[in-house]
Amino acid sequence: MVSAVSAHYICADCDHEFVPKEAGDDPRCPKCSRTEAVEPADDSALQSDIWRQWLVVFALLFIAGIAYVVFE
Ligand SMILES: [Zn+2]
Repeated sequence: MVSAVSAHYICADCDHEFVPKEAGDDPRCPKCSRTEAVEPADDSALQSDIWRQWLVVFALLFIAGIAYVVFE
């Protein structure tokens, strides 16, 4: 799953997030000009993952609350 369009990268060395001007296999950090610490940042997927986890927690609390009210 590789999307060349608007691919975000994050530099693990200086925590700088950027979009490389040239979509290559080896994007360079514009801040510290390292290539080995640069990783693709997929924060949108991560964010929706966190939301899904919270939804599960809230759903469980909701069900527990209903069960408490019904069986009390
Ligand atoms: Zn950097």
